[in-house]
Amino acid sequence: MTEVIRVAVAGPFTDALDYRLPVTGPAPVIGARVRVPLGRRNIVGMVTSRPEASDLADDRLRAVTEVLDSAPLLDPATIELIEWAARYYHHPVGEAYLTALPARLRRGQSATPSVETGWRITESGEAAQIDSRSRRAPRQAMLLEALQQSKTLTAVQLAGFSGDARAALKRLVEQGLAETVTAPDYGLLQGLSNEPGAVLNAEQQSSAAAIQPGAGHQAILVDGVTGSGKTEVYLDAIERTLALGRQTLVVVPEIGLTPQLVSRFQQRLAGRIAILHSGLADGERLNAWLAARAGEADVVIGTRSAVFAPLKHPGLIVIDEEHDPSLKQQEGFRYSARDLAVLRGYRLDIPVVLGSATPSLESLANATTGRYQCYPLRQRAGDARPPSLQLLDMRGEPTRDGLSQPLLDRVRGHLDAGGQALLFLNRRGFAPTLICHECGWLAECDRCDARYTYHRGRRRLHCHHCDRERPIPHHCPSCGSVDLRALGLGTERIEAALTDAFPDTPPVRIDRDSTRRRGSFEQAMRQARDGETRLILGTQMLAKGHHLPAVTLVAIIDADQGLFGADFRAPERLAQQIVQVAGRAGRADRPGEVVIQTHHPEHPLLQQLLHGGYSAFARTALAEREAAGLPPARAMALIRAEATARDAPNAFLQAAMQQTPGDAAIERLGPYPAPMERRAGRHRAQLMLLADSRNSLQTFLSRWLPGLSRIPEARQVRWSVDVDPVEA
Ligand code: ADP
Ligand code: ZN
Ligand code: ZN
Repeated sequence: MTEVIRVAVAGPFTDALDYRLPVTGPAPVIGARVRVPLGRRNIVGMVTSRPEASDLADDRLRAVTEVLDSAPLLDPATIELIEWAARYYHHPVGEAYLTALPARLRRGQSATPSVETGWRITESGEAAQIDSRSRRAPRQAMLLEALQQSKTLTAVQLAGFSGDARAALKRLVEQGLAETVTAPDYGLLQGLSNEPGAVLNAEQQSSAAAIQPGAGHQAILVDGVTGSGKTEVYLDAIERTLALGRQTLVVVPEIGLTPQLVSRFQQRLAGRIAILHSGLADGERLNAWLAARAGEADVVIGTRSAVFAPLKHPGLIVIDEEHDPSLKQQEGFRYSARDLAVLRGYRLDIPVVLGSATPSLESLANATTGRYQCYPLRQRAGDARPPSLQLLDMRGEPTRDGLSQPLLDRVRGHLDAGGQALLFLNRRGFAPTLICHECGWLAECDRCDARYTYHRGRRRLHCHHCDRERPIPHHCPSCGSVDLRALGLGTERIEAALTDAFPDTPPVRIDRDSTRRRGSFEQAMRQARDGETRLILGTQMLAKGHHLPAVTLVAIIDADQGLFGADFRAPERLAQQIVQVAGRAGRADRPGEVVIQTHHPEHPLLQQLLHGGYSAFARTALAEREAAGLPPARAMALIRAEATARDAPNAFLQAAMQQTPGDAAIERLGPYPAPMERRAGRHRAQLMLLADSRNSLQTFLSRWLPGLSRIPEARQVRWSVDVDPVEA
């Protein structure tokens, strides 16, 4: 009988495909990559199993062309995680594997780290006379002397010699006086263990004591206000994990992985640290991944996809800023790194720590049911005092580019007292709208149901939804008037207003536009941190995890836009944003002040934050979700469809609805137009499914989805499933 292997390949295949073993050479093992024919191409795939037999007839089985790894690249636990994720998110398994692998491995390149070359002295080298060659070959003599003294030379040391030292060393090797040595170079950071940990306060101690590396699985939510020392708690647990000889995986949102965080880990820990994020070069990423897999890295700090990094001796998983929506991938393979990390910890029987100053309602619900242990950190570490929160009633206030006089006075007061002010507005550009003052024409993107954002500095109109750009029109295309005006607020406009109001204190703006250049974000943050800049303004880039100890005033310029959002998660996001930004104030010894400009000071969300903080808000919000039957009270999935033809998405979803299994326990809503019906030239519609449990939702989806691609209307659309969506 033909021997068969099952191979996960890229493409719309729910399952792995069967292939016949190669005729010659070693048989590929599970978890290794192979090259297989698919159509007329030859592509890289991952061996996922070796079934007894295939459903395909022998003569239809094609043979593996090449075995790329002689040993498994992925261990069984990692394979299981990926397979589980593909099933749960109803995504093609091959694509799930590809997400889990670094780019080089996806392309079939070798799974070996870079190699560092060095040189070592030989016995005859030890015995050789220096003097005899110092005239003839002075460079060789110099290197030989250096080798006799230090026994080895690295490439870095070699670079310290003048002239062509490499060529001279090569001569020494040819004469048998030195030899080349190579060692894998994973590019790890060596922990310095320079700084002792802080003496934990009582709250920190009890949460740290609850985390027990080596004692099996537990999920622990560290619900700690900004500056309460959550990171210290993680570090304490990581040190104890290190002492057991086990690895820690730390998953952080993209923007949370700063050089500042990395250097803090490096200063504190004694182990080797690998960094995994999308900004790395392919080679660096591969090295870090291989180091995690080989057990060479003791701590792996990474963004979303690091949750799939194989670990040789897993001991602890930490998810920082667990509420951050960017932990969920929003396109393609729509997985939640947070949820997968918890599952992974459960399967590996190791502790998982989730930390946030503003925990997601999902995690708070899990804490309520006892699935997570919850440890609040209510005090700020050290002597830092919590900021005081105030609402600035904007009704009837004259404003100058969105800044009210009381706010300007407040900023002035803090600057005069030697403080630092941070102004937050979550909208970049100069203004979200360009309008004709004569006729009311609006500059709208012709591919989206959206307006262009006016970028004054770049002199462009830019659609933030499809990325289309165009020059600023000189006159109104509708009536010819040249009186085109910017309507609404963006960070660029606030920057101009601040420059006017405080000519002696130039503001620094931190948003995606001002930080495009590599390193410019870090530079701006450093200036802000060191107090070099005393007026800081920016978008949510400012809100995440950065310590700005000198900030004494935080101002939320416009809370109103988030109060009435269409998405049922809008209030949660707004509350998190306000609390996260507010957390930047008064972190060191100076007390902070937080002011929120709003036209709705009586709004319950703002009142709850004011009087009971985030936890009061969260209690109410959870009760509301419960009453409305929304997540986390119930499980949700969205089916999205899009097409250039206006009616195609709706037609497909209607047809899909007709096919739903008659399961009364599943609530079906829609199809209805997506929140932005047209985007990038495509019309979009969606269908919402709600179930009392994840299990019943999963059962339903598994029965329903496989048939959908056979619906004739499916050919007219692009459609996708989003399980546990964070954007509805
Ligand atoms: P979080 O992660 O909750 O925002 P951090 O762990 O970054 O908080 O701590 C905030 C600041 O307080 C840091 O500068 C940290 O070094 C300091 N810190 C944390 N815990 C203590 C402690 N127990 N004693 C003194 N300083 C501490
Ligand atoms: Zn006009
Ligand atoms: Zn657009």
